[in-house]
Amino acid sequence: MHQSVPHLINGEFTVSQSKRRIPVTNPATGLVIAEVPCSTSEEVETAIASAKKAFLSWKETPVSDRARLMLRYQQLLKENHDEIAEILSQETGKVFADAKGDVWRGIEVVEHACNIASLMMGETAENVARDIDTYSFVQPLGVCAGITPFNFPAMIPLWMFPLAIACGNTFILKPSEQDPLTPVRLAELFLEAGFPKHVLQVVHGDREQVDQILTHPDIRAISFVGSAHVGQHIYKTGTDHLKRVQCMTGAKNHMVVMPDANKQQVINHLVGASVGAAGQRCMAISVAVFVGAAKEWIPEVAAKVAEAKPGLWNDEDAGFGPLINPAARKRVLQLIDSGKKSGANCLVDGSDFTMPEYPNGNWVGPTVFSKVTPEMEIYKEEIFGPVLLTMESDSLEDAIQTINANPFGNGTSIFTASGGAARYFQHHIEVGQVGINVPIPVPLPFFSFTGWKNSFYGDQHPYGKQAVRFYTETKTITARWFGNDAASGPNMTINLK
Ligand code: NAD
Repeated sequence: MHQSVPHLINGEFTVSQSKRRIPVTNPATGLVIAEVPCSTSEEVETAIASAKKAFLSWKETPVSDRARLMLRYQQLLKENHDEIAEILSQETGKVFADAKGDVWRGIEVVEHACNIASLMMGETAENVARDIDTYSFVQPLGVCAGITPFNFPAMIPLWMFPLAIACGNTFILKPSEQDPLTPVRLAELFLEAGFPKHVLQVVHGDREQVDQILTHPDIRAISFVGSAHVGQHIYKTGTDHLKRVQCMTGAKNHMVVMPDANKQQVINHLVGASVGAAGQRCMAISVAVFVGAAKEWIPEVAAKVAEAKPGLWNDEDAGFGPLINPAARKRVLQLIDSGKKSGANCLVDGSDFTMPEYPNGNWVGPTVFSKVTPEMEIYKEEIFGPVLLTMESDSLEDAIQTINANPFGNGTSIFTASGGAARYFQHHIEVGQVGINVPIPVPLPFFSFTGWKNSFYGDQHPYGKQAVRFYTETKTITARWFGNDAASGPNMTINLK
């Protein structure tokens, strides 16, 4: 019997009555470490009803009390940082240092949520008309929901529920069924911090549970992170049901390498940004575009990437871990094969990589292609594996054109010593997150995570001030207090008099 992952419904961690169970597997060993029962439709209904009821009192809790609870939560997350990272490593296969990074980038959002009183301050204007003032507040929406992917089981849930709840909402989290143990641990610590029991609910499952949430009349807003095709379904269904929806989806991120860049920095940063986390990051650099003479560096880049070896979570020499599941591995191997068949040059081939001690792990070694062109399948698809594609461009303008023609627009970066080139790039590139000599420019939480084009559906982005707007409604008040002035008769216009 494997451990059954509990859901958090109605203030209690309990195991679903459902017969439908999904195994949770350690991707390095292939061993089942737990099973996650999919919450039944009655259980999901109970969670939403319980969150709806809890909203009535939670929204009246003073903002300073909400902030104080959040402070306690961030303290508990820090105290349990390593333990959470270890759970995370077991179910994702991430190497420990990277797993700690996943937790830490979530903690940073919680730190930001501690500042909720300032974040929720409205605007005021005095004397907008004679003796009339206008001021605005933001108020919470009600029950909000989050649907999260497998690749950041700590950071991405923490992008969502802490800010939503700090704003005064209640929240239903549906974590990835592939690694639910980490989010459940986050929820346990959340209750331990002292939040009222029904403010956060965690249900488990897949499409069935998501569709129930998407169409439920009591859910006001949905934050989704995951693949592009699922994001499009969520955005369409959610907005068809008149909900506020934000979907952060797939990516194909390019790094431009100018010939004046610091070569050693380029090589070092490209290794981690491309094959780190086995390439399973939405901000991973998947394509490096070498401009002009910089193309001479491609063999050196390939040689350095080849040195990054997969391994177990606690192997300090391992650069990254396995892919999340056998299907993901099979897909990546097929894409590598299609790259070879379509005429790209496979400089480093990780498709035969094995770990004899762990033959059931989802291993793929580091892989590098050169001579990649835009019509190739490996270029068009988000590979989500430890594969770096390299391309060549005659000029910065050509490189920008290639990137702008790509349907995705999550992240990009340029490595250069020229301020002029960097300025030109940052202005003309049609991508929402731009790094200048920074390979993975994920903004800290006082900004927002601003993917563009097919990497994002919605208008307000996650975390930062935009998330506070996403999780609240603005109320604008226009007020006058009468003194002893004589009334001057009815005002028959819309003007303030
Ligand atoms: P996924 O789309 O398969 O799953 C994401 C979530 O949606 C899971 O909770 C899953 O249970 C649910 N889901 C899956 N299929 C569904 C369906 N048909 N209907 C409703 N719900 C469904 O994504 P994944 O494989 O877990 O994560 C990897 C993807 O996430 C990559 O494409 C990556 O780029 C993307 N991602 C994007 C960002 C970003 O900020 N843009 C961040 C992280 C990951």
